[in-house]
Amino acid sequence: MAGNWKMHLTAPEGVALAHALVSRGATSPGTVVLVCPPFPALDAVGKALAGGDILLGAQNLHPEAHGPFTGEVSGPMLTAVGCRLVLVGHSERRHGMGESDEVVARKLRAALAHDLVPIVCVGETLAQREANQTESVLAEQIGAAYRELSREAVQATVVAYEPVWAIGTGRVATAEQARDAHRSIRGALERTAGAGLGERVAILYGGSVNAGNAAALFAEDDVDGALVGGASLDPDGFRAIVDSASRAHRG
Ligand code: PEP
Repeated sequence: MAGNWKMHLTAPEGVALAHALVSRGATSPGTVVLVCPPFPALDAVGKALAGGDILLGAQNLHPEAHGPFTGEVSGPMLTAVGCRLVLVGHSERRHGMGESDEVVARKLRAALAHDLVPIVCVGETLAQREANQTESVLAEQIGAAYRELSREAVQATVVAYEPVWAIGTGRVATAEQARDAHRSIRGALERTAGAGLGERVAILYGGSVNAGNAAALFAEDDVDGALVGGASLDPDGFRAIVDSASRAHRG
């Protein structure tokens, strides 16, 4: 269960949210919970979460470890500040910052090289869905990201299916749409990375998940968790989503 704080919260505000999540017990045995604050808040939020069950993640990384890349942050810098996971290829970067499949593939490899679990975000636009291209778009994005990765590396990753039309719009995919897309992604992983791997990678759904719609999504066996944007800024809402996941996990 991942919370993407996007470009919200200063370091002190992030620490306050981290404390609220800890005091509300937004964790559950068997469920990995993480938050991805903006870069300037990583250190302080990491310290606020230290020793607890909520992990620290980042929202992005540069493909290179260091160099003349003004304004960028690298894998080793994230690891040094306590990050364990990192989002790669979020649609707000693919579509808002022109991040190509090739750059996403390089970032995925950089994350793995620096002991970060990459959460690889894929998803179709509304126009692509309406043109019945969802499956081919997902296959292309997965193919480009995972081509020639070792089986071991593939299993060290997580995928987030995030239909672009559902992100930050309040329009959530139906459980059936999420299930079908997750099955397509598992198929694409099998074809690209090797037999048996489709089942070995956790696939999160992301796109306007909140406390009211999470249970229906988690009822689908193919939905392993959620990448939550807006609703992750509300500690009670995020905790309720974590609770839904753990109920689905138990059930
Ligand atoms: C996200 O940031 O990845 C996301 C899914 O945002 P939201 O939950 O706000 O749609």
